Order: sequence, then C-alpha cells, then structure tokens
Amino acid sequence: MSPLGKRFKLVDDFNQAENHDYHLLPSRFAGLDDGRYLLSNEVGEYLVVDRSQLESYVKKAVDQDSDFYHDLKSKHFLFDDDSNVAIDLLALKYRTKALRTSQFTSLHLFVVTLRCDYTCQYCQVSRQTDDKHAFDMSEETARKALALVFRSPSPAIKIEFQGGEPLLNFNLIQYVVSEAKKLNETHKRDLQFVITSNLSFLDDTVLAFCQEHGIHLSTSLDGNEALHNSNRPRPGKNSYEITVKGIKNAQRFLGRDKIGALMTTTEKSLSQVRSIIDTYLEHNLDCIFLRPLSPYGFAVKNHQTQKYDIDRWFEFYKEGLDYILEINRQGHHFVEVYTQIILTKLLSPFNTGYVDLQSPSGAAIAAIVYNYDGDVYASDEARMLAEMGDRKFRLGSVHTDSYEDIWLSDVLLDTLESSLSESAPMCHDCGFLPYCGTDPVYHYATQQDVVGHKAFSGFCAKNMKIFKHVIKLLEDPDTKKILTNWVR
Ligand code: SF4
Repeated sequence: MSPLGKRFKLVDDFNQAENHDYHLLPSRFAGLDDGRYLLSNEVGEYLVVDRSQLESYVKKAVDQDSDFYHDLKSKHFLFDDDSNVAIDLLALKYRTKALRTSQFTSLHLFVVTLRCDYTCQYCQVSRQTDDKHAFDMSEETARKALALVFRSPSPAIKIEFQGGEPLLNFNLIQYVVSEAKKLNETHKRDLQFVITSNLSFLDDTVLAFCQEHGIHLSTSLDGNEALHNSNRPRPGKNSYEITVKGIKNAQRFLGRDKIGALMTTTEKSLSQVRSIIDTYLEHNLDCIFLRPLSPYGFAVKNHQTQKYDIDRWFEFYKEGLDYILEINRQGHHFVEVYTQIILTKLLSPFNTGYVDLQSPSGAAIAAIVYNYDGDVYASDEARMLAEMGDRKFRLGSVHTDSYEDIWLSDVLLDTLESSLSESAPMCHDCGFLPYCGTDPVYHYATQQDVVGHKAFSGFCAKNMKIFKHVIKLLEDPDTKKILTNWVR
C-alpha cells in the first residue's frame, strides 16, 4: 500500500503486454460515440477505433500480424524497425499542411465604404446610411493600403472589396484595381479581385469592368423571397428581386463560376433549410455555405444571436446536409462549403486556408482588413468589434504605421501566440485538433478571453458536432464516394 493509501500496480503489470518492437508516433484521441473513438495524428490522418483497440495501441500490445497494426503503421500512428522513411514522410506531410503559414497574407479586405442601402437586422458591420460620404475610403488611404498589400510574401494575393455596400464607392474600386495591376507588373503575384455586394448597383458599367478585370462577385442570398426580404430589408421591399436579377445578369455576362452567394441563418431560417437549398438550385448556384450568425455588430445589438443556440443550428445544418447528399445521389453536384473545408482537412494533406480553422489563427496572417479610414484590423470580425467600441484587435493605421509596425505589433504577436491550439487548454489533447482551429476574436467577444474556455465555447461546440457527424457520414461507402468528390 502506498503512503497515500492507494494501490498502484507493479511496473511489470504495465510492461507485460507490450510489444517493444514498435514505437508510438504523436497522436490524440476523442470520443466519437458510444464506445468508439477518433484516433488522429499530427497531420490529420485518422482511424475510428473501439476502446479495446485504443487501449492495445497505447499499451503497445497490437498484434503485428493484424490488419489494425498495418492500418496504424500506414497512417503514421506507429513505426517499427521496418519503417525506413515513416518519420521523414510524416515530417513532409506536416510541412505541406503548414505551408500556408509561411506564405502569409493572401487575403486583403478593403472596406471601401460603410454606406449601405440595406437595413439587415443581423448586419455584422455598423452600416451608415447611404448619404454619409464621410464613411468612404479615400484614394490616399487606398494607395497606402496597397503599398502594404504587396509587402506580403504570399505568391497569391486576393483583394476583396467590402462594405457597407462597396459598389456605392465604385470609383475607388476602379482606382484600386488599376493601381494594384500597375504594382503587380513589378511584383508578379497571382492577383485576384472579389467584390462582395448586395448587387443593388450592379449595372452594365460594373459588369463590363468585372469582365475586363476578371473580377468575381460574391453576394448574399438567404433563401426564398419571403425569407430573404424579411432578413435583408431595403426601401422598396424588393431585395430578393434585385439579388436574383443581379445573380442572373452576372452569370450571363461573366460566367456561372464568377458569382457565388452566402447565406446567414436567422431564427426564421431554421425551419426552411430545404427551401433555402432549393432557392440556390433554382438560381444555378453550385454550392451553399450554411452559416450561423456571428456575435458582432447589429446581430448583437438587435439580440438576433440570442434567438437560437448551437444545438438548434446544428439540427438545421444536419437536415440541410442530408438533403444536399440526396441531391448529389440524384446526380447533381452541389456542395455545402463548410463541410467541404472539413473534408479537405480530413481527406487530403492540404490546408484549406480557411481563416477560422487554422492554428495559429489566420488573424492578419491569412486575411487582414483595411478599414475605410485607414485603420488596420486583424480580421473582419475584429473590425466589427471595433465598430461596437472595442478596438482590441486594431493593429495600426496605413497613415501612421509601417508594414513592420503592423505585422510585428504586440497586439498581433500576442494574439497569434495565444491562438495556437496545440498549447490551448482542452484543444492540445483533443483528437479533432488537426481539423479545427482557433478564433481569438470570437472567444474575446463571447468570453472576454482570446483563448476561451472551450467547454463553454460555441465555436468548439459547433465544430466538434460537425467533425463527429462528417466522420460518421464517411463510414458509409456510397456517401464517402460523394463526399470525396467535394475535396478541393
Ligand atoms: S476547439 Fe474544441 S473541437 Fe476544436 S480542437 Fe479545441 S477542444 Fe477540440
């Protein structure tokens, strides 16, 4: 008996069953459902195992002639004397996954105006009424922001115009595109542009400009006419009509692949997921992103974020995904975007670059925001938080700070350091870590702490539910065939 009164087994008891011919490689596990676990390694390869398999693996007692042993070995959960290149291969896969971190920052968001003609209840930015020119970005601010854009080491640069409604400051968009293209004659990056717009001001001039410069359009479509008009009100109560007309014109003029749409889930959307997806199909869109509300801007002021919880949203997502799979089984390729991002992480050696599912966080190193007044923020959510009065994630200003001041600021370095899931409580030993990420702005907004307590985190709850669901869907061979086709 030990001095603490507890009985410990002898060392030999632990050694007895061990197969000393193999060594464990770094791995984590997490409960999947009754008695089953997800076992994952550093590069996201995974196995679904039962308790006895998990125990025999960690005790190094797996029979070397078993299929399980060969699965563990081929997926880099263990190595033995025959594993000549196993660790080098694992390191190569790890470097491939982490490559994007060395190629920061590829996405540069220009908030060219805060003016907007819409009055959406859940708007995540603080829009201004459309006659306040004081909220437009100036050419001088844009020029200084562009100088920072091309300091990024990323071989691919995407400039995305946001608002408010960015087409209300179309002259500035034209200026930025022309200046960026001039600068790129020297820098020679893979340069792309996106305008995120409600399409109210999409006319022939804008379309011709987009065609000339290969610009993509991204819009919002929340579902059928009644739902969209209710979620996205504008004077004239015809936002659906305007949006679908804009989508059609863009598809005809620019090509189907040059316009995409995003939806936001409000309380009213929850019972209508099939109809929302049907609306996307009706308008020839080939994917949908089922997104919950974010806790920023007018969504918080109007208490929209309190109207449903993650459990309710997850039921909505699940029903939607089932319906999308049904559509795919009928031969129509149609994708749910968040699932596609997770599948790419689960089934390929590549990282997707999706800002919210990265460790360290993608704040400023995946995407950065230049606000209309020249202030620079770590993410769009950081800007939204600033519009609510909290400038914690303001990194500087294009008018007063250099590239080094901004990207080496304490605010950014502290945020990135705290955002490493590998060292965050709960995440560091979570089996879902290779597919997950970290969202310091979300956790600061909801828990006043950039790391956040994951047991109370909506971010963690949402992702964990989706990971489990998608991994279980992959167990059915026919469904797996469809989902594998979605991997980018
Ligand atoms: S946020 Fe949650 S699901 Fe993601 S790694 Fe951390 S504990 Fe796991």
